[in-house]
Amino acid sequence: MSVPAMVTRTTCPYCGVGCGVLAERTPEGTITVRGDPDHPANRGRLCSKGTALAATLAADDRLLEPFVDGAPTTWPDALDTVAQRLLDCIARHGPDSVALYVSGQLLTEDYYVANKFMKGFVGTANIDTNSRLCMASAVAGHVRAFGEDIVPVDYADLELADLIVLVGSNLAWCHPVLMQRIVAARAERPAMKLVVIDPRRTATCDGADLHLPLRSGTDVMLFNGLLAWLAANGHADAAFVDGHTQGVDKALEAARAASSDIAATAQICGLDATQVERFFELFATNTRVVTLFSQGVNQSSAGTDKVNSIINCHLLTGRIGREGMGPFSITGQPNAMGGREVGGLATQLAAHLSLDDPAHCAAVQEFWQSPRIADRPGLKAVELFEAIDAGKVKAIWIMATNPVVSLPDADLVRRALERCPLVIVSDCVSANDTLPFAHVKLPAAGWSEKDGTVTNSDRHISRQRAFLALPGKAQPDWWIVAQVARRMGFGKAFNYAGPEAVFEEFARLTEVSRRFGRQLDLTDLAGMDKAAYDALPATQWPSPRQQARPFADGRFPTASGRANFIATPARTPRHAPSAEYPLILNTGRIRDQWHTMTRSARAPQLNAHEPEPFVDAHPQDLAALGALPGDLVRIVSRWGSAIGRARASGDMPAGMLFMPIHWSEQFASSARVGAAVNPVVDAQSGEPEFKHTPVRLEKLEVEWRGFLLSRRRVSAPAGSWWAASPGDVTRLEFAGRGEPPDAAWLKSVLPEAARAEWIEFNDTAMGNYRAALVKDGQLLACLMVSTRGRLPARSWLAGLFAAGRLDAADRRCLLLGRRQDVPDPGPVVCACFAVGANTITAAIQAGCATLEAVGGRLRAGTNCGSCRPEIAKLITAEATASASTLHPGANTGTLRAS
Ligand code: SF4
Repeated sequence: MSVPAMVTRTTCPYCGVGCGVLAERTPEGTITVRGDPDHPANRGRLCSKGTALAATLAADDRLLEPFVDGAPTTWPDALDTVAQRLLDCIARHGPDSVALYVSGQLLTEDYYVANKFMKGFVGTANIDTNSRLCMASAVAGHVRAFGEDIVPVDYADLELADLIVLVGSNLAWCHPVLMQRIVAARAERPAMKLVVIDPRRTATCDGADLHLPLRSGTDVMLFNGLLAWLAANGHADAAFVDGHTQGVDKALEAARAASSDIAATAQICGLDATQVERFFELFATNTRVVTLFSQGVNQSSAGTDKVNSIINCHLLTGRIGREGMGPFSITGQPNAMGGREVGGLATQLAAHLSLDDPAHCAAVQEFWQSPRIADRPGLKAVELFEAIDAGKVKAIWIMATNPVVSLPDADLVRRALERCPLVIVSDCVSANDTLPFAHVKLPAAGWSEKDGTVTNSDRHISRQRAFLALPGKAQPDWWIVAQVARRMGFGKAFNYAGPEAVFEEFARLTEVSRRFGRQLDLTDLAGMDKAAYDALPATQWPSPRQQARPFADGRFPTASGRANFIATPARTPRHAPSAEYPLILNTGRIRDQWHTMTRSARAPQLNAHEPEPFVDAHPQDLAALGALPGDLVRIVSRWGSAIGRARASGDMPAGMLFMPIHWSEQFASSARVGAAVNPVVDAQSGEPEFKHTPVRLEKLEVEWRGFLLSRRRVSAPAGSWWAASPGDVTRLEFAGRGEPPDAAWLKSVLPEAARAEWIEFNDTAMGNYRAALVKDGQLLACLMVSTRGRLPARSWLAGLFAAGRLDAADRRCLLLGRRQDVPDPGPVVCACFAVGANTITAAIQAGCATLEAVGGRLRAGTNCGSCRPEIAKLITAEATASASTLHPGANTGTLRAS
């Protein structure tokens, strides 16, 4: 489809699905965003985050000029300062005393220049990326099995498969467009089976044929059991194993040690033996099997073994290199794959070449014409910040990431940055939890302003194109690094005219990879001029000219040309629960936020679904604590703590807590869950064990709680717990001890309150204070505080801020927080159309018994589809409730959090 001149074809900046986006600018300057129907990843679909991209653009929180030592300055001064301070550090302490910590948000061109700068010119491999936190185990597993970091499956294979196994992946929330593709494929081909392997029952489990809620950290044992069972029951593909693999005997020996049969496997994994048998039978009887895995596999001290235990099963059955089958690593970030391709990890060289091979290093040095080349792996993310804390690394340049929130043992990261003599931060926001430690702040271009390429999880290279001018003095990251490199004396090698020149050089470098037998070969894209680069459509590698699909010919890029089985002995997570820390903390993402919320929280509709940090727990774990859903609870580990609102859910296994990763100190007072996560890493990949930290849960004793809705954000009462949900109306939840906030507090934080009309209610006997402030007929703010914990719903009041002038009935009901004649819509389920749970339930009760019927009446679930599992759950809950009314003994199912 050709696009009109005012429409820019680009790529979503959030997850590794890499959806194509059409951004349209009206003559008045309004931007709208929709899915690109021609992009092979999404064919026009977008999830809630992608749909809301336009709402993230008009931001007043941008870093717009460079700062050195707290003072604004010019680019030449900032670049000279960075170059000189890095040179001084290298001269005094050597190249390994400096490091870069970069991000899967960077474009391939940014990544390429940063990697070349460090490994070829500074002479150290101390450049690592936050992709280390999400998929380094997949990289290490691929390299061990295939000899190269190659994902051998396409998205189209998900539609061709007869069985999809999702392991450690809440695909419905974390990669929603792929989940929608699977749902659509299953609707067309109902015989297609879906198995979900996850300790939690997530939205992804809705509609699955089988959910295996295995014991945390036992994935290797399950797939070892599958491997042993497949071999024992005649399901091995002997011709493939004999002709194309090596090492099967040792892998089988290791597998049989703890997972010898179904009963042993079920016992060690905490599963029902009949469920395990059903999974094994499904795997054995369906040739077209895709096993898709994500952070639940990777983020483990046995992450690389988990990956290899999955790959082993595909190798044993020859289920790789053909349509509709294979082990499929889905990346979290938009350009984690591009970063891997150019060598953005401290353990890689560039273009899939190895730091451990002197011939590779020499060839890349020759290509770059660089004065030196790193010849050994650098520090991986967790090691890197430990080295900063220990004073070994003295200069760190952080690009497009927020390690004070996202790394494990995050308080150590904060301390390390406090101690570090030189912290440089390139970012597009003016405030996050990492920026306060920066000696030099560099304003970087963001999505919609920068130009380059990204590679998604199925190896499609897509263009991110600019459609807005660079704001203030912001510049692309590749330009910033190249300017610093030139000032450090490396000018000739960093004299790029634009991102197209960077990409062209990278594509030529893959000729070197090809010489060494690597399958990453972009030489078809070398020689592109700017016009061709600008027009580049989504392009998958390998190109059809090179190979139909990776491993289609049964050859693998190992020395022998055979794939390696890897022995994966059973191993439990590094830290076991104890009497002091009896529960397991699991962390992950939610549906509508991205990473540390610096972009996604700008879109009001994305803050509505989960407005506060929360802790999901099994009801019996909350009851044991004497806590109720809605209470504030503190998760405490050996490393730190975090606070969230307790929710009780039978979807959680007893003994496990779940807390999302997104909240930083910009949005809540104590919800950086990274502070509580253990810094244990996988020995092969260096990926942290985010899914398994022993913790205890404490109830936070508070004397009052309340909320403020206001047209602008204000600071919370001093010393209180708080969580802010920004938007056209900011929702500030708070709780604390001592004197509760009152009218005097409100006047102190909201000076315009002095000129407003106050509608107040102060019931000291019942411990309630309520105030609504009206100015020019419109609601200015609402403060509701209670010492008894009874507060009105927020949704009706929040809606009044957008409603313009209040009518008489609204005014009468302000302090009540609801109108008898206007139903409370309940918490938002559908972010695209702002449809609440109560509204959906009412529609179901009125006869809308299917997703389609609910969508037809309310539009809920008809745009991105991300909320469809939740709507389905409400339909099921209503059906169950009706059945138990008719048959009072019936099982009432899952107890949902309030
Ligand atoms: S699934 Fe959603 S977040 Fe991921 S790339 Fe597509 S639109 Fe963006």
